[in-house]
Amino acid sequence: MSRILDGKAAALAVRAEVAGRVRALRARGVVPGLAVVLVGDDAASQVYVRNKDRAAAEAGFEVRTLRRPASTSQAELLALIDELNRDLLVHGILVQLPLPKGLVPESVLERLDPAKDVDGLTARNVAALWRGEEGLVPCTPAGCIELLDRNGIAIEGKRVVVIGRSQLVGKPLAALFLARNATVTVAHSRSRDLAAIAREAEILVAAVGRAKLVRASWVRPGATVLDVGINRLEDGRLCGDVDFHEVLPVAGAITPVPGGIGPMTIAMLLANTARAAARRAGLAYDGLDAG
Ligand code: NAD
Repeated sequence: MSRILDGKAAALAVRAEVAGRVRALRARGVVPGLAVVLVGDDAASQVYVRNKDRAAAEAGFEVRTLRRPASTSQAELLALIDELNRDLLVHGILVQLPLPKGLVPESVLERLDPAKDVDGLTARNVAALWRGEEGLVPCTPAGCIELLDRNGIAIEGKRVVVIGRSQLVGKPLAALFLARNATVTVAHSRSRDLAAIAREAEILVAAVGRAKLVRASWVRPGATVLDVGINRLEDGRLCGDVDFHEVLPVAGAITPVPGGIGPMTIAMLLANTARAAARRAGLAYDGLDAG
């Protein structure tokens, strides 16, 4: 029987540590501020933003949510980013994706001050990640690694397969696994014989956006399976990229959806924001009291 990796519990532990560090920052006169930019009325984004706002406020951050209509122009959005870049009360800026049609997400994200780019998507932070320099790491990939670490699942020397090569998840996650001395394969929509590639993995990550793509026959017995995908089934229920019930008896450990990587993503956003605030204040994040 495989172990279910409880992302909710791990995320709560991370959030409690972040709250401790936020208290330590406040005690030094630094009030960590997070600005969340939400353009348009995408229903899923509204829910994500509400959850992020609530979690950030609970951890002691000053949260500012800036809602703008779908008709917002690229120039208006860039002007808003410039304003937040200059605002000394803001340490982290999150632009909720996807942006409405007509806006160019790449240039909006690139406009962020890299020191406030808590999603780690600016060219500077991407380069820092691949070079092994200090920077801000995208939240979902960071959450995957944190969940493994907190469950005592070793990474070094392991054969890892990441399915999906997006800028947001697949690519940065591959960089993080490499930095931890795993042997990494990145598979994608054009990969041939995906099942055979997946079966080689001791740690298999699915970050695709296709419900139940990964079947039991794709999984090496005893492998750790991280399911990043969030898909909505016709009956309204959420479902990952992995056929959970089929894979459960084969895997050594597996994340559920919901309650796996999703909560970790929010927790890492908070950690990144506190890290950004500490860095601006010239303090070492890891040295702050987490209790
Ligand atoms: P994306 O659409 O940007 O990228 C999907 C990737 O999957 C692409 O690289 C593509 O090559 C690959 N792909 C597509 N079809 C494939 C197939 N049939 N076989 C193999 N590979 C295929 O998506 P993304 O932003 O990386 O997100 C992936 C999934 O993760 C989505 O379901 C998204 O909702 C979810 N997600 C979850 C969180 C979280 O917090 N849990 C965060 C971000 C994204």
